[in-house]
Amino acid sequence: MTERSVLVLLGPPGAGKGTQADRLSKSVGIAHVSTGDLFRGHLSANSSLGRAAKGYMESGQLVPDDLVIDMLFDRVSKPDCEKGYLLDGFPRTVAQAQALERRIAPPWRQRAIEIAVPDEVLVARISGRRTCPKCNASFHTVSLPPAKPDVCDACGGALVQRADDQADVVRKRLSVYREQTAPVSVFYSQRGLLTRVDGNLPPDRVFEAILGWAQNKKAG
Ligand SMILES: [Zn+2]
Repeated sequence: MTERSVLVLLGPPGAGKGTQADRLSKSVGIAHVSTGDLFRGHLSANSSLGRAAKGYMESGQLVPDDLVIDMLFDRVSKPDCEKGYLLDGFPRTVAQAQALERRIAPPWRQRAIEIAVPDEVLVARISGRRTCPKCNASFHTVSLPPAKPDVCDACGGALVQRADDQADVVRKRLSVYREQTAPVSVFYSQRGLLTRVDGNLPPDRVFEAILGWAQNKKAG
């Protein structure tokens, strides 16, 4: 791609954002910038931004959006982001979307895509996950069941469900998402920058739609 695009990937937990972002970044050749990874990197490297963030966290405060944006722009000033990059995990709130918008000037432009999936589909997807604590193999009660229920195919270990993946916890996470992050889609939609894809399709079809969006220089 020749344009300088900030591609924003939106979607609820369980929509498959991380996987789709990885595939897209490899096939289009743009950097995949995950703010979660960035944050953990600064904290473990004890960088000046990491120390500043830690100060807020240790005093029980939220890390200010501008500090997260500083981390982000420190990352995207690297040569691999010169022609564009894909943002995953940011912005999470309308305030963050506004802060990001203030930092983006031509020739840079933003475009957002939302992977839309109904809540009950997400609950079924996430609550069906099982992992093996002995060898870390992953299964799914519906889409990738082990040969014997609750037994790891690879090592015979007893499969477990992560506390985070329990249906009531998933519903809680989804309601936080609907409250805080869903308005970010509205923010981009009002600016004519949003494309929505049906995340209830098979992952390959979702990927084709995202790829088409990323390569469509006229979109938005
Ligand atoms: Zn196992």
